[in-house]
Amino acid sequence: MFDTHLVKPGTAVRLAEMPTEASGFHDDRDTARDEFRELRAELADLQYNLYAEGRRKLLVVLQAMDAGGKDGTIRKVFERVNPQGVRVTSFKVPSAEELAHDFLWRIHKATPANGMIGVFNRSHYEDVLVVRVDRIVPEEIWRPRYAMINEFERLLTASGTTVLKFFLHISLDEQKQRFQDRLDEPSKRWKFSRGDLDKRRQWPDYMAVYEDALSHCSTEQAPWWVIPADQKWYRNLAIARILVGTLRRMELDFPDPEEGLDEIRIE
Ligand code: ATP
Ligand code: MG
Repeated sequence: MFDTHLVKPGTAVRLAEMPTEASGFHDDRDTARDEFRELRAELADLQYNLYAEGRRKLLVVLQAMDAGGKDGTIRKVFERVNPQGVRVTSFKVPSAEELAHDFLWRIHKATPANGMIGVFNRSHYEDVLVVRVDRIVPEEIWRPRYAMINEFERLLTASGTTVLKFFLHISLDEQKQRFQDRLDEPSKRWKFSRGDLDKRRQWPDYMAVYEDALSHCSTEQAPWWVIPADQKWYRNLAIARILVGTLRRMELDFPDPEEGLDEIRIE
């Protein structure tokens, strides 16, 4: 179950062959919802424990095409978690200051500290995705970045960070539906931008650069998962399972309390 959507290190990813639909993995929305609620509650307990332990940290990277569900995933999966223990960072078009540094500078600053869960809404992967599709830098600049990213993530894991990376895989049809919803629903119109349509036209280019990123950068220490994301309930369940499974495996501990607490009587 844990490995269902894992990109095995060293495999060449073909996104067209990977499912965007829940069917085949789960067909009962009601049982999925019950399981998800239980996992979400357990995630809150585990996060409390991670924070109390204060020695390790978790980094969750979310990447997707527009309307792929990054925001919804963050809202739903982390709903029960104490906001003090989670820091979400959204990476937009880099500022002039960010561009004046190496591409990992703004990323490194946002990585989680001991006890924290960091969530990246977009990430350093944009520097081998949009940057390639829009030809923002030449090949001699972007090509070495895959190895740099792997080294960077190795530094993070060697420093006590567990790194989990999720590509929310939606179909072109599902994106169309979600864009249409954004146009039809007044409260969602703010989310729509014309630029999203340009990116939609570049869909095959994006799939190709995503395939490269997933193939080069799914490593033992920082794996990628390709989550079927056309059905939000399944997307959330699949991610919650992996997060909870990962935190369980960390065998989190509470720090030793001060000695002699049993004798204390509070006046
Ligand atoms: P939503 O899904 O709600 O629209 P979003 O993550 O798409 O949220 P936007 O402000 O719409 O947020 O888009 C951020 C934009 O910044 C994206 O188009 C993304 O490709 C771009 N971006 C992020 N990092 C980089 C980068 N390193 N270089 C160039 N563009 C980048
Ligand atoms: Mg956008």
